[in-house]
Amino acid sequence: MEADPQVSIVIPIYNEEENLPELVERIGNVMVASGRSFELIAIDDGSVDGSAAVLGGLAADRLWLQPVLLARNYGQSSALQAGFDRLRGRYVVTLDADLQNDPLDIPDLLDRLDRDDAIDMVSGWRKERKDKALSRRLPSVIANWLISRGTGVHLHDYGCALKAYRREIIDRIRLYGELHRFVPSLARDVGARIAEVPVRHHARVHGQSKYGIDRSFRVTLDLILIIFYMRYRQRPLHAFGGLGLWLAFPGALILGWLLILKIGGEDIGGRPLLLAGVMLLLVGVQLVVSGLVGELLIRIYHEGRGTPQYHVREERQSGTAAARPKR
Ligand code: UDP
Ligand code: MG
Repeated sequence: MEADPQVSIVIPIYNEEENLPELVERIGNVMVASGRSFELIAIDDGSVDGSAAVLGGLAADRLWLQPVLLARNYGQSSALQAGFDRLRGRYVVTLDADLQNDPLDIPDLLDRLDRDDAIDMVSGWRKERKDKALSRRLPSVIANWLISRGTGVHLHDYGCALKAYRREIIDRIRLYGELHRFVPSLARDVGARIAEVPVRHHARVHGQSKYGIDRSFRVTLDLILIIFYMRYRQRPLHAFGGLGLWLAFPGALILGWLLILKIGGEDIGGRPLLLAGVMLLLVGVQLVVSGLVGELLIRIYHEGRGTPQYHVREERQSGTAAARPKR
């Protein structure tokens, strides 16, 4: 059997037929020149143009190119995940298929991983971004700020698809929905130490962007998901229950107060406060119960599926001299 390549490059593709020949050619040139063994896993995400056929043609005389054609259009995250599920390399590189990222930057990112043992992931930073429209840049500035604040992972540029990782990090995360934008947060969550490196960025020449302004809403929702995921996934009762107590406690006080009045002979049936008290107590108790259900779910997740709730960076067994890296 053939030895595994050192580097696995993953590109998600949706209707990029005009970009593919140049992209594949340039990645090939750069990687061959770098002297590293590599594979290029090209995920066709159900393109409706000729992308799949173009890939087939390109793969004919390039052993390192592995086209994977998905059954339909699943979205960029699932396409990336399909690539991650097939990796063989020790290093993983992702980039977009539209030539906005420059393959020339790949060796820089990999060199950084080679050089710097204290780094598990290198994220591209499009210092001079070539998307002119304000409708693209403004949401991006706001998103970077919000995501940095919300997740505590401070990067200049979350939206850059060009990134390089050590394989262990990729093996620990799974991308669903549109979470590809939050990979640094997810990576941080599984213990990755992240560096940012300035990379080149070009305007899109062929094809169209697959996203419009409505992505801002989805990013906001995903941000809520990620903050919950990073902070409370292991202890959902603290998230739901915390809010629940804040509501239930005043609710109980109000009802207690009304009970005293009632015993004192007052008529409380028509008081708005009664409704408020009942609502607060009811909603609060519901939230605490949701938290408890969450606690059961996370236990089933970890115990039933054998998923560990922690990752070890390095460990040394007593009685042996060698330090051994572990997942
Ligand atoms: N993409 C994909 N599936 C989709 C949408 C996009 O695989 O459903 C790919 C697309 O071909 C490109 C990358 O994801 O390689 C980023 O998409 P795009 O360039 O449209 O995003 P933008 O640069 O505008 O943020
Ligand atoms: Mg693009």
